[in-house]
Amino acid sequence: MKAAIFVQAGQPLAIEDRPIPQPGSYQALIRVHRCGICGSDLHMTSGSAFDIPCGTVLGHEYAGEVVDIGPHASSLKVGDRVTALPMSACGDCPACRADMPLHCIGLQSMAGGYGEYTLIDARKAIRLPDGLSFEDGALVEPLASALRGVRRIRNLDAKTRVAIVGAGAIGASAAFWARRLGAGRVAMIARSHRNEGLAAAMGADGFLTVGDDLPTRLETVLGGTPDVVIEGAGSAGAIQQSITLVRNGGTVVSLGGCIQPDQILPAIAMFKDITLQFSVAYGLADFRQCVETLNAGAVEPRALVGETISLTDLPARFDAMRTGSHPAKVMVNPMAG
Ligand SMILES: [Zn+2]
Ligand SMILES: [Zn+2]
Repeated sequence: MKAAIFVQAGQPLAIEDRPIPQPGSYQALIRVHRCGICGSDLHMTSGSAFDIPCGTVLGHEYAGEVVDIGPHASSLKVGDRVTALPMSACGDCPACRADMPLHCIGLQSMAGGYGEYTLIDARKAIRLPDGLSFEDGALVEPLASALRGVRRIRNLDAKTRVAIVGAGAIGASAAFWARRLGAGRVAMIARSHRNEGLAAAMGADGFLTVGDDLPTRLETVLGGTPDVVIEGAGSAGAIQQSITLVRNGGTVVSLGGCIQPDQILPAIAMFKDITLQFSVAYGLADFRQCVETLNAGAVEPRALVGETISLTDLPARFDAMRTGSHPAKVMVNPMAG
């Protein structure tokens, strides 16, 4: 099978032939139909301390068709259309019992969506209802990350004013969930107007670009200072910007995952008496809620997908995404060559 291999930072991914893996006991093999490119994939191949080992096949936002199952993977059958958490976990440790498999003592990555086939943990898979496409299935992972983050907000209700810093896939997905889970007003803030249409499609009441009078413009859109600021930018300075914008006693939820040292001024956060909350990943319940929400007709997140490319085109596109502007979500279709 063909797969895009990480060689080393500064070099493009290499399309190589690899043997099709055999499913282990609780595993299934899927033919990958769609895999989203995530900002974290760019981060993990950029020459930072967070780089993945050479030879790794990235791709953790995937959906596909089951083509083989291991001896204890009978919850799935060949032909099932699925998405899955891109990890294997024991199912029995405190983290797993809290539906936080990322912190499992036996965590194993099941990334590999940048290949024609990849293994999944059958216990972490969800069947796609007939009305949902593989593209929908590949949106579930980023949607689930944002869902978990928005669920961290305590007492979210029709009076809650939410501002979101960053209008990429995570920021836009956070806007979708804030709206969906009952926030009063939702505004998105970005550096450019590029994703203004996306923000509206995802349910934001307003879209603002950064600038001197941002706090005033934000108050106008939200009807007051934000109670919650969700940081979905992942760039240095975004957390401090969120702290500056949030009201006294408010909450900042950081989902961006900036990989550089990033200064905040603690005295401002302290003086404002804010809660600074980080959130990462998801559990099976989050995945299930995303699938159910899409299947119930809330298909706004389809607006995230701006471009679908072949595996062959992935290496060049992947590197271009490091510097150039790109749609919120670029999808790879390994079936397209
Ligand atoms: Zn991701
Ligand atoms: Zn576990």
